[in-house]
Amino acid sequence: MDAVVALCKRRGLIFPASEIYGGIANTYDYGHYGVLLKKNVVDAWWKSMIQERDDVVALDSAIIQHPRTWEASGHLAGFSDPLVQCLGKCKQRFREDHLREAQPEGELVCPVCGGDLSEPRAFNLMFATTIGPVQEAGSTVYLRPETAQGIFLDFKQVLQFARRKPPFGIAQVGKSFRNEITARNFIFRTLEFEQMEMEYFVPPDQALQWYEHWMRERFDWYVRLGIEPDHLRLRAHDADELSHYSSATSDVEYLFPFGWSELEGIANRGDYDLSQHARFSGDKLEFVDPQSGERYVPHVIEPAAGVGRSMLAFMCDSYDEDEIGGEQRTVLRLHPALAPIKVAVLPLLRKDGHPEKARAVYEELRRHMKAEYDDGGAIGRRYRRQDEIGTPFAVTIDHQTTEDDTVTLRDRDTLEQERVPIEGLAQRLLGRLAP
Ligand code: ATP
Repeated sequence: MDAVVALCKRRGLIFPASEIYGGIANTYDYGHYGVLLKKNVVDAWWKSMIQERDDVVALDSAIIQHPRTWEASGHLAGFSDPLVQCLGKCKQRFREDHLREAQPEGELVCPVCGGDLSEPRAFNLMFATTIGPVQEAGSTVYLRPETAQGIFLDFKQVLQFARRKPPFGIAQVGKSFRNEITARNFIFRTLEFEQMEMEYFVPPDQALQWYEHWMRERFDWYVRLGIEPDHLRLRAHDADELSHYSSATSDVEYLFPFGWSELEGIANRGDYDLSQHARFSGDKLEFVDPQSGERYVPHVIEPAAGVGRSMLAFMCDSYDEDEIGGEQRTVLRLHPALAPIKVAVLPLLRKDGHPEKARAVYEELRRHMKAEYDDGGAIGRRYRRQDEIGTPFAVTIDHQTTEDDTVTLRDRDTLEQERVPIEGLAQRLLGRLAP
């Protein structure tokens, strides 16, 4: 983990935010390659949800919704107790008043591992802010702690506009915010994070079948994008772990360097959310079959993933160190679809027509994929720089190129170098990028 964190910092993928002021807890910034990698993770998700299916539509709902949303969803009531957190081994959170009942005197300690406890806070997981210039009653709003509720609020509109009938899904990617108090494990748990969530609305009697479908589907997505299957598992929640809305939840877990941890949750939310919003808003949120006249409140299966957590898993799983010709190299063996840069174009020399030729090849390739031109330093060092950020291909322009318009194409993983014509190079590479 330390090696991945160091690489992210060294190459500017991800680094602590507000560093000139000493940083801010659980908050990170993404630099150039980090932004590109993050975008590729999100694109791969959209591709699997929208491009490769015809039963899911896209949505981008507001971050700040009507405050009643969070009353109906249960988020407002669910997270407003005085909480303390174990600062020792187990990091669990407890209601301070409950602990005080069991430990009437002295300094409270963690009832699980005996560790010290944090100061108590009236802990609401949601960040509150106000609309308007003055803080007055009724103006409090919340930054969403999940994107899902925006989907439920728009259920009726999408039903009309998209002319769908269950089973169908609404997918959304966007920022969510949680007042997390556990500070550890890099971008695994942050105050603001991007979620990739899809609410799949089904006839109630099909809920179980679709729950199983989405568990398989989401597990396979990580495998298709290169994660070692042995490093993934599906873990069903015990009854006492289930959220208030869920009748069944399974997590896709990844074997992070710090142990098995949740990457994504797949929940059977039943009709909880639509029924709650119908009750609070007075609006009917149901499906009426135009043919049969049958009406019902759809049940919902939700695969909910985190972009940052997925990125961290993709980086941890692809991080490798090996040796080439007695020299140590660090390499991210990322799936080409995820790699921030797909191809590096490298003139062997800074003279003899190499740069001109290389520039032309680069300008042609970058029309099709993210390419990078690099003429700085020895060729070996330039390869190492690309290996470190996971660039799957490197094209080198040398003396022979100026004679016969061929280049060497180097593969990051096999280290093979083939001599190939410039003509058709973009097509050749494109064929090797897709998952
Ligand atoms: P955890 O138990 O780890 O707090 P959760 O079960 O509360 O997660 P969900 O509400 O199911 O998480 O959110 C769905 C996904 O969103 C998670 O699987 C995770 O990938 C991501 N996620 C949730 N909270 C955070 C966070 N604070 N930072 C980064 N990603 C997060």
